[in-house]
Amino acid sequence: MWAFDDMVDRVVERLTPLYELAAASTKAKFINLDMEEFKDLDLTVAVFEKVLDNPKLRGLEAGIVLQAYLPDALAALKGLTKWATDRKAIGGAGIKVRVVKGANLAMEHVDAIMHDWPLATYSSKRETDTNYKRVLDWAFTPERTRAVRIGVAGHNLFDVAHAWLLAKQRGVEKFVEFEMLLGMATGQADAVKRDVGGLLLYTPVVHPREFDSAISYLIRRLEENASNENFMSGVFELADDKAVFDREAKRFLDSLAELDEVVPRSHRVQNRARLLEVAKSTGFSNEADTDPSIAENRRWANTVLQRSVDTRLGIDAIEAARITESEVLARTIQSAVRAGEAWGRQSPYERSRVLRDAADVLAAFRGRLIEIMAHETGKTIAEGDVEVSEAVDFARYYAERALELDTIEGATYHPPRLTMVVPPWNFPVAIPAGSVLAALAAGSAVIIKPAPQARRAGAVMVEALWEAGVPRDLLVLADIEEGELGQQLISDPAVDRVILTGAWETAKLFRSWRTDLPILAETSGKNSIIVTPSADLDLAVADVVKSAFGHAGQKCSAASLVILVGSVATSERFARQLEDAVRTLRVGYPSDPLSQMGPIIEPASGKLLSALTTLGAGEQWLLQPRQLDETGRLWSPGVRTGVQPGSAFHLTEYFGPVLGVMTAPTLHAAIAMQNAVDYGLTAGIHSLDATEVSRWLETVQAGNLYVNRGITGAIVQRQPFGGWKRSTVGTSAKAGGPNYLLTLGSWSAIETEPVSDIRLDGLSKRVSSVIKKAQSGIDFPDFDRVRRAAISDEAAWNHHYGGSRDVSDLGVERNVVRYRPVPVTLRLSEGEPLGHLVRLIAAASLADSRITISSAVPLPTTLVESFDDLGPSAQVHDVMIESDASWLAHAASLTGRVRLIGGSHIALSDAVGGNPDVAIYSGPVTTSGRIELLPFLREQAVSITAHRFGNPDRAMIGLPV
Ligand code: FAD
Repeated sequence: MWAFDDMVDRVVERLTPLYELAAASTKAKFINLDMEEFKDLDLTVAVFEKVLDNPKLRGLEAGIVLQAYLPDALAALKGLTKWATDRKAIGGAGIKVRVVKGANLAMEHVDAIMHDWPLATYSSKRETDTNYKRVLDWAFTPERTRAVRIGVAGHNLFDVAHAWLLAKQRGVEKFVEFEMLLGMATGQADAVKRDVGGLLLYTPVVHPREFDSAISYLIRRLEENASNENFMSGVFELADDKAVFDREAKRFLDSLAELDEVVPRSHRVQNRARLLEVAKSTGFSNEADTDPSIAENRRWANTVLQRSVDTRLGIDAIEAARITESEVLARTIQSAVRAGEAWGRQSPYERSRVLRDAADVLAAFRGRLIEIMAHETGKTIAEGDVEVSEAVDFARYYAERALELDTIEGATYHPPRLTMVVPPWNFPVAIPAGSVLAALAAGSAVIIKPAPQARRAGAVMVEALWEAGVPRDLLVLADIEEGELGQQLISDPAVDRVILTGAWETAKLFRSWRTDLPILAETSGKNSIIVTPSADLDLAVADVVKSAFGHAGQKCSAASLVILVGSVATSERFARQLEDAVRTLRVGYPSDPLSQMGPIIEPASGKLLSALTTLGAGEQWLLQPRQLDETGRLWSPGVRTGVQPGSAFHLTEYFGPVLGVMTAPTLHAAIAMQNAVDYGLTAGIHSLDATEVSRWLETVQAGNLYVNRGITGAIVQRQPFGGWKRSTVGTSAKAGGPNYLLTLGSWSAIETEPVSDIRLDGLSKRVSSVIKKAQSGIDFPDFDRVRRAAISDEAAWNHHYGGSRDVSDLGVERNVVRYRPVPVTLRLSEGEPLGHLVRLIAAASLADSRITISSAVPLPTTLVESFDDLGPSAQVHDVMIESDASWLAHAASLTGRVRLIGGSHIALSDAVGGNPDVAIYSGPVTTSGRIELLPFLREQAVSITAHRFGNPDRAMIGLPV
């Protein structure tokens, strides 16, 4: 849609032969352009006019539909009438406009909700009915109908009668035609035909082979007629049931009473070229993307793209940020630490205000940010635009979340002094912005080292934050070679946190420089979508293609595999549609707004080049990728079939436009293939069968799950982003989710005087059983602490972790964040009270997490007995009583999460050799459930399409998640 003019030209080119054929026929054929969605309105009108402006077609009468449920209908009719009158004046034929009310209400709702755009249509039937009459009222004059005949299309007999009487009164009945859908209320149709002298019947025709594509039309008719608001729902009782007649009569009179001569304004008036409205100062809602159906926005986007060709944005900032000497780097780090300490002393409220300003400035920088992303990283306008929205969302979301940091019961928050941000190039604005803003919200200074391929985009993003009032010594842009200086920066002991988004191997490299480096990393993914025979195959193909080839397959969330279950594997239709959709993707540079897939970031080499050129055993090309120019960056998208379980293509992450097709006999086998990879970032399923989806949700191992939709494009708060297994490193939580800031700082315990209360009321049975049985081994202050902690855990469970929540509440899409238990090793170090261990066992029991215990002191027998009933899947896997020295001696074999009670974080990090597969939680044990339950849980974001063509999908709405 961004390439409006080019798109019009392309469609005109495709349609013109058809119109020429119609014109050449001995009896001229009539072609009508139907109207579907609001976003097609401008395009359809422009195509219609341009086709008929062709001198060879000047004598052809043709038609177009306008939908009265759009306030835009009258303005569109006026435009068409002026154009048609001019055409007629130079000897051309007239046109016909069919006026309907509009049949796509449900999908217009979806479009508005999903993009945070205003609903394009009227929101009440009364308004639509009034507008229908408003349009006819304006159209029915002898001068206008001379050039524009009107088709009155609908089944509402009151409106039909009104239109007929009005046409006669205005003397234009010769130019008005009445139209209905074939098979609807045939008796009434006959009656209308008798009165008005003729009736045009409309019916779709499909080839028998494609009959299922007619089903959606038929279902739409059924749904439309079943709605109580619609005339057809009462048509058969109208004659005999006075109540139904009165209802429809009243609706008619009410709509007539509101008739006026105003030309309604469009509901969709977003204009990126104008100054922005300042957002609300509290709360969170997602920033709306730019609406390409609006002409002003398309003009704005064109100027942005033109500027992108030779833009100089970011050059000065990145040059000024160049650091080439070790001493300068050391001084920069020291100064940032000082700024961080001062910033961390400010209240979260103060920090939050700066972040809100940052959101507004990032929004104002939208054009500049898209311009530099297109120039530097080849992002198309649609891809760049959503990144800016995401950056704005991060600022507002973390501004809101920062307020929680000072309110956690039982624990005091300590901001990090300095956070290093190491972002990737594939999201050159959203990810750097998200990481920087999170660190700032957490009270830390930040040094950001943009990815070499996206330096200038990172610089422009930082300039926006500086402009918003973030001090330059607090947020430092550093352009540093990835050699010795890079190592000096990352491994400096003053760095309290590193936020990395990149390959798992990069995290490993960083840890080889400093084993205890506190990395919070989003790492690689090898993501797949399962398609079962119960899927809507048309939608599945569209989502697979979008997920695989968006940004040329260079998103960490991209689908690299599609796994076809059972009969889908041999479905000729699926294969044909997949091939068609991929083959027709238009590949090009972003300066060409028609490009749907841009270039890869640098010439293909290494494993990506091999993925684009070389097949594995048993594989064939459904579409072989082709290098399209000498840069080595522009490739046509590829699809390989026959990918074998366990093969290189099954298990290796490739960052580029190539999709592998696997087949599985059963859903069970498909899930096993999906889970067989080392990573667990995103995963999808297409199936309309709730039982299948439910089974999948229980067993799939990934952080972001998507049902009946694409698997990319996670949105802040709606689908917090972050993976499982090797897709994450460290003690991180999901970016853009409720726990992220909690993991950036550190926490100390708040000690309070013991109280005499020893009741364990309100705790779950298994937790109170653990505490009771441990009681004999701990003193009263410890018992009191454990009791308070368990109460806090229970509250955190109820409010945060226990249930699955849909905070966005969109209705048409369910977005649930839920928590799954994860195995943890608990280590009680020498000199630490047993009470701390008991407190954490109680937390594990509540979270239902499997634990391994290593303790420096023997455990009371009664406590060990309680291990038998810790929880449905919580169990103690092993208990070792050992000194710190012997624990460290075999620590190298550890993997997964370790909760260290006392002892030395550095010693353990050294002992595991900085292994990124080990996440060490080493803060003091607190009584806060909000903090202490986190190590025992993995977050999972589940996003489920909950509608079918805009109507509620009951199976997916009712699915337990
Ligand atoms: P009514 O019951 O009087 O009106 C129903 C209509 O009111 C709904 O369809 C909707 O438009 C509107 N409405 C109902 N509830 C609300 C609400 N809460 N808020 C706002 N509006 C509401 N439709 C297209 O979109 N594109 C086409 O190209 C098209 N071609 C058609 C061709 C023919 C020959 C016919 C007969 C219909 C066509 N339609 C098309 C369908 C048409 O838009 C209507 O959906 C249908 O005719 C029902 O309208 P009505 O006037 O018969 O009934």
